[in-house]
Amino acid sequence: MTSNPTRTRPTAVNQPTPRYYDFKTYLTRTFGCKIHRISLDAHLSCPNRDGTVSTLGCIFCDDHGSGTGLARQGLSLTEQIRTLKQGLSRRFKVSKFVAYFQSYTNTYAPMPRLRQLYDEALADPDIVGLFIGTRPDCVSPEVAALLAEYARTHLVWLELGLQSAHDRTLALINRGHTFADFVTAVTRLQGTGVQICAHVILGLPGESADDMMATAQHLSALPVAGVKIHLLYIVKGTALDQMYLRGEYQPLTRAAYVRLVGDFLGYLRPEMVVMRLTGDPPREFLRAPTWALEKQRNLEEIKGDLTERDLWQGKFYDVSTRG
Ligand code: SF4
Repeated sequence: MTSNPTRTRPTAVNQPTPRYYDFKTYLTRTFGCKIHRISLDAHLSCPNRDGTVSTLGCIFCDDHGSGTGLARQGLSLTEQIRTLKQGLSRRFKVSKFVAYFQSYTNTYAPMPRLRQLYDEALADPDIVGLFIGTRPDCVSPEVAALLAEYARTHLVWLELGLQSAHDRTLALINRGHTFADFVTAVTRLQGTGVQICAHVILGLPGESADDMMATAQHLSALPVAGVKIHLLYIVKGTALDQMYLRGEYQPLTRAAYVRLVGDFLGYLRPEMVVMRLTGDPPREFLRAPTWALEKQRNLEEIKGDLTERDLWQGKFYDVSTRG
């Protein structure tokens, strides 16, 4: 992997979080106050599960669709917001929130239904923005136009599950879309005011460190404004779990993950918002690696490694690749 070791550490990312541009800082800069995110379950489906693309789903996904499961408990969006807001206000002393449509594919429904869901979230006066999780192949021109409408009056981020920029990996993990689909979605939203966040996973089967760094470089060359970095962990009952039990997949060690995150940040464009540095596995369903449950320690080790190796976001970023 090529790097540019002559790049100096930009002052912009020195304060208040020195080595990368974290989400909390971004939200505070954008709104001038502390903002918390409320994760919602809109009770939608996913084309990679309902048979439109596949019935199997991604190999790491269980049937909760990487989501909160609150809709299954019968809570409407309004009820979810009300309940979660109360808890977060008490715990974090915040009064403004962004709504994060997390579970399944949140642009995968007829337009009137999507509009109704987004309106329902924004009807709460304390909700100041929309974060919408979806797949790259579920951003039709109609969806792009709808999101652009909301972006005229609110902060709107579309969180696209990419996971890897390599089509052979995407096929192996049964994503059911290609990197080209991701580029199409990003291009479609360019200039609309909708910000794009890419989700990536480190430790996918068959990927080398160079493959993962290439994904960071591809993202940095596109008009992608943010990234969420996840660890590949194994949820019981998934296809990945079967691979693991057959001895066909070994999760990363903590030390390997920590180093990969540091290097990955080095290849990211300095102004990209880093919304996550690791995943949040569900304790009761996690098979491995168990160290993934120690989120605080993992974050501390990542930050310690950045300091120890004197790494920072954009250290290896090649400005000539800017899209
Ligand atoms: S696209 Fe998301 S919800 Fe659908 S199968 Fe993959 S991880 Fe699960």
